Amino acid sequence: MVMDRNEDAVHLDNPSYMTDERRMIQEVAREFTLKEVLPVANELDPVQGQIPMELRAKMGEMGYFGIRIPEEYGGLGLGVFEYCLIAEELARGWMSVASIIARAGGVMGVTGWSMERRLELTRRAAQGDYLAAVSLSEPDTGSDLASVSCKAVLDGDEWVITGNKYWCTFADGADYISVLCRVEADKDQPHKGLRSFIVEKPRGELPKGCQGSPIPKIGYFGWNTFELAFDGCRIPKANIVGGDGTEGFKTTVSGLEVARAHTAARAIGLARGALEDAVAYSQQRVQFNQPISDFQETRFKIARMASEIEAARQLMYHVATQLDNRQRLDKEAAMVKWFATEMAERVTSDALQIFGGAGYTKLHAIERYWRDARLTKIFEGTSEIQLRIISDRILGKPTNRQNQS
Ligand SMILES: Cc1cc2nc3c(=O)[nH]c(=O)nc-3n(C[C@H](O)[C@H](O)[C@H](O)COP(=O)(O)OP(=O)(O)OC[C@H]3O[C@@H](n4cnc5c(N)ncnc54)[C@H](O)[C@@H]3O)c2cc1C
Repeated sequence: MVMDRNEDAVHLDNPSYMTDERRMIQEVAREFTLKEVLPVANELDPVQGQIPMELRAKMGEMGYFGIRIPEEYGGLGLGVFEYCLIAEELARGWMSVASIIARAGGVMGVTGWSMERRLELTRRAAQGDYLAAVSLSEPDTGSDLASVSCKAVLDGDEWVITGNKYWCTFADGADYISVLCRVEADKDQPHKGLRSFIVEKPRGELPKGCQGSPIPKIGYFGWNTFELAFDGCRIPKANIVGGDGTEGFKTTVSGLEVARAHTAARAIGLARGALEDAVAYSQQRVQFNQPISDFQETRFKIARMASEIEAARQLMYHVATQLDNRQRLDKEAAMVKWFATEMAERVTSDALQIFGGAGYTKLHAIERYWRDARLTKIFEGTSEIQLRIISDRILGKPTNRQNQS
């Protein structure tokens, strides 16, 4: 059994940020989530099923894959703010669905491809019909991305990719994998020798020259996360991102600020889902002849949860607005990622507590929110890495790291 949401539990507004258009976008995404996403999540997450193609098609019709893609290229032409607004709503249903919208529209930087081709694929991406998996991490490379060792070597008209990758979510379902590889060794500045490559492949398969298997993760279901072994995987010479010599590390890191705001939105959405379910449950569950929502400990817990969610949301609104104003914002993006994801773990754990033993079952969605919240502290840069970024901006880098990235 899954609890109905409490309609009035969390319907917050901030007139400084929320225009009528944004309220409408939020409301439509909320209704879409409750009707199309939540029932699918409740059915498929417990059996580790995949996000269905029908749901992807509906999301494509809503424009959710092209929120930030310009209208002339088939997108909605909106900003980071609307992207986060919609991601929060989708994550209220299923975090994996809020995540898949980030997999569209990454090929405009492939300057070796004709503009026609890039525009055509971007149009398809906006419909959810040309989606990426992103392969940065390796068995020995996680937080320290500059130490990537998977190699790309130019051989005539082709790049040949060889090396092991880890944690590649959606490697099978995607239309291409964006792979971060080393093209040059530079002992002093290892991040400089990295580039991103586009490895196209048939949907539902791994690329030729690449083998892999799913990692047995404990949540984030709806898609598989792979370990991959590239063994002489050949791709056309043109499939390099920033063929004008742009460094792969810089390109990767520059996208992280929006990714961190998006992760905050996902954390806020799933925390809100947990709160709404906990409010509804606390009003129905009776112990000692009264609803458990009458106990002060439950009431105060709910008050604290709602306050924490709201604090994270307001910081997200601020960061998203600044990103739309094209400001570099690494410290604030790290702050919202850290704050929102730590908050989500606390809030989903408190929500589970309100459910008592029922929370520790697969009969309610609470356990999903709790499991998925735990991941938000790890991917897109761990909490410790966010604190490192923030403290570096406040204190300057420690002396032993002053010459490093
Ligand atoms: C379910 C799932 C899906 C994922 N999907 C993808 C994906 O699609 N593509 C992709 O490329 N990656 C993906 N990742 C990988 C993810 O980004 C990494 O797990 C993350 O960056 C951390 O790297 P790591 O796991 O190797 O941990 P490590 O870097 O080994 O860190 C281990 C611990 O040490 C701490 N630590 C490391 N360095 C420092 C430091 N300098 N200061 C303080 N503490 C430090 C960390 O915070 C952490 O607590 C996914 C991971 C998971 C779990």
